[in-house]
Amino acid sequence: MEARETLANVLGGPPEAWVFTSGGTEADNLAVLGVAMAQQQQDPMRKHIVVSAIEHSAVRNPARWLAQQGWQVTFLPVNGEGVVSVDDVAAALTPHTALVSVMHANNEVGSIQPIAEIAAMLRARGGEVPFHTDAVQTVGKLPVHVADLGVDYLSLSAHKFYGPKGVGALYVRPGALAPQPLFYGGGHEAGLRAGTENVAGIVGLAAALKLAIDGLPEESARLRQLQAQWLDQLPRRVPVAQCNGPSQPMQRVPGNLNFSFPPIEGESLVLSLDLKGIAVSSGSACHSGKIDPSHVLLAMGKSTQVARSTVRFSLGKHTRPADLDRVLDVLPGIVERLGGRQRMATSF
Ligand code: PLP
Repeated sequence: MEARETLANVLGGPPEAWVFTSGGTEADNLAVLGVAMAQQQQDPMRKHIVVSAIEHSAVRNPARWLAQQGWQVTFLPVNGEGVVSVDDVAAALTPHTALVSVMHANNEVGSIQPIAEIAAMLRARGGEVPFHTDAVQTVGKLPVHVADLGVDYLSLSAHKFYGPKGVGALYVRPGALAPQPLFYGGGHEAGLRAGTENVAGIVGLAAALKLAIDGLPEESARLRQLQAQWLDQLPRRVPVAQCNGPSQPMQRVPGNLNFSFPPIEGESLVLSLDLKGIAVSSGSACHSGKIDPSHVLLAMGKSTQVARSTVRFSLGKHTRPADLDRVLDVLPGIVERLGGRQRMATSF
């Protein structure tokens, strides 16, 4: 199929190494749960996995589920900028480690992880521990090649590079342990993912990938320049703003910006900015009516209050320099008003 060849040409591997899925979540689940189950069949003693503490819930929750099933799960710490250390990965390995999974770049704070270095360390130790990376945030935004990264499995999702929602893919390196399928049915996708393929979605994924890659050097340079301006100017205009994640734009995924405005609630900022026509997301996840502070920010050593006061600005292909001017026009007033209200609320 042409789409599979596009993935192979752009991201590496032979076309048959690419398994189409319903998105990044399914690709991550297939890698984590599928490899865990395949390892179990070969050696029931191999019941340990290593994941970073800042993974997206598509990796984090399968890992937690394995923990409920009696697996040992190591959640790797990160430094204050949200980056995993290769030494910590090495120290976490045991003779029973079945999989290491570390995302290529974090979705909240944009921190790029040392994936090629982790892969090299694992190879130097005999290459017995398979390595997965969730590259949902980097494919289409940074140059990604499975051989350069040295990974066994890599997840991607089309809607992160302006493709259709509900389609993604998992790379399975030829020769790597094949994940146990999550669905049983026909022999689609080399037996790894039963179910008639979403052909329209897959064609859209490949077309969007081509478009993203064609303009990638110019677009990522443009986004990095915008990002640098925001990183420089926003804290000057709003002194309470604290930048989360790497301070160097080259160490974060192009277009990602994450700021805390303590003591203001991130949710209040989201609503106030929305009223001014500016869409941002809060750094917290809302589960069953209760706002949980971001596990990523907590893992980076931020306090609960700082984590709750966080918003993420995502710059994309439609973002222009004037958008920063607009944010800088309205944000100081909003922060002043909400901060005053917060001070009043806490003084009673
Ligand atoms: N992994 C990361 C890092 C993500 O940012 C996302 C989505 O935001 C996913 C996985 C899930 O991808 P999908 O929405 O295609 O299921």
